[in-house]
Amino acid sequence: MVDFLMNIATPGIHHITAIAGDPQTNIDFYTGVLGLRLVKLTVNFDDPGTYHLYYADYAGRPGTVLTFFPWEGAPLGRPGTGQATAIGFLISEDSMDYWTGRLTEHGIGFDGPGERFGESVISFLDPDGIDLELITGKNVPANDDPQFGPVPADVAIRGFHGVTLTLASYERTAALLTQTFGYTAVHETGSRFRYDTGSGAPGAIVDILLEPSPRALRGEMAVGTVHHVALRAKDDAQQAKVQKRLAEGHFDVTSVRDRLYFRSIYFREPGGVLLEVATDGPGFDVDEALDQLGSALKFPPRYEPDRESLESLLTPVRLPERNGRR
Ligand code: ZN
Repeated sequence: MVDFLMNIATPGIHHITAIAGDPQTNIDFYTGVLGLRLVKLTVNFDDPGTYHLYYADYAGRPGTVLTFFPWEGAPLGRPGTGQATAIGFLISEDSMDYWTGRLTEHGIGFDGPGERFGESVISFLDPDGIDLELITGKNVPANDDPQFGPVPADVAIRGFHGVTLTLASYERTAALLTQTFGYTAVHETGSRFRYDTGSGAPGAIVDILLEPSPRALRGEMAVGTVHHVALRAKDDAQQAKVQKRLAEGHFDVTSVRDRLYFRSIYFREPGGVLLEVATDGPGFDVDEALDQLGSALKFPPRYEPDRESLESLLTPVRLPERNGRR
């Protein structure tokens, strides 16, 4: 049994996908202020008249990928129970001063730095009101990636620290994390419960924030909320094992969807959060060279014949000036 569990343990988050309003505002904030790399400009494969924006580290490694569906003109959603309500980015211990200075420079208010489970945290909102956190991790490895964008490599965001799920109850979600995905309960204080894959990879943490009050509002998904959280499967075989295991546990899990850069299955965890399990490969360099990532609007092969008509539905965007191109 232990072997089987070891087999399907995830290293952590693959990507997080949220809903934005204006795509240009989103690009300017995530590349220009937070210094992430736009690694893919493409369309929502299920709604190809809208963009899908991908930000990550230089190479677009799993555990560093934040993606947005910009829904221009759509109403604001409401963060609440049954949602991922905060996205935590990992920074090195000695870069907190840089970040408080940088946010101040850009006129972005933040809370903190405060302490949480021995780590330093600041919280602030993105332009659409999504809760973001910068969290100092211990033993963050040196950054060997090429310099791109406005943030120096030695203080750059190093992918996700983790994600916070706000739930009305936590037991069944905790069981899913520990029994199916190999997480371990590592900390608990007040209403926050922390689970860690122990992989040491970026995005290894899931925090459950318990909101049991019947007055707590259920989240409404629209602009300014997280759409789903994807966990990593190292390959198709591991994904198939997870899919089988979820089906056996009576989760309503989808068939495998080809997302070109990875393959995905989706299901809703017991607390209501939409989860995905995405394969590590093939990766973002499948249709663009590594040093060209995010430099052109990409369509998956099935939409390429309709490029012209689809492009006419999309508001043109200005790409980041320095984005890793040499
Ligand atoms: Zn996804």
